[in-house]
Amino acid sequence: MLELTDYMLDLEEAKEIKPNVDEDTFEMWKLAVDVSQNAYCPYSNFPVGAAVLGDDGNIYYGCNVENASYGLTICAERNAIFSAVANGCKKIKKIVLVATAGKNTGPCGACRTVIDEFADGDIPVIFGENPEHLIVTTSKTLYSNDFANH
Ligand SMILES: [Zn+2]
Repeated sequence: MLELTDYMLDLEEAKEIKPNVDEDTFEMWKLAVDVSQNAYCPYSNFPVGAAVLGDDGNIYYGCNVENASYGLTICAERNAIFSAVANGCKKIKKIVLVATAGKNTGPCGACRTVIDEFADGDIPVIFGENPEHLIVTTSKTLYSNDFANH
């Protein structure tokens, strides 16, 4: 079990928060916070959770999983997207992530490439620790010139 940081919100307290996103996105954010508690990050101590909305209407989620070799580490966003794919969903409509020990940490470059691969157009990307001041942007804003031109 990870030791939670000051940035980790108590989900009970979150009920009183007035988020700057719609209710469905806020629910995805709370799920991402919850999932971040399952992160395996003994090397960075930087838990991240992510939730994606598939075009099938389901929510898929993932956390970061590190490895002693570091390079084999995989991010929460990719784990969430790959979980969607494993469940037969190959298009995503939205992604929400939270790095509970970070300050408005967005997707890394590798994840931006993967988000672009599976995004159903230019999709919302939401991140941050403070649900009243979440960063709301889009996949094409973060990744304007895609790798394979698809
Ligand atoms: Zn990443």
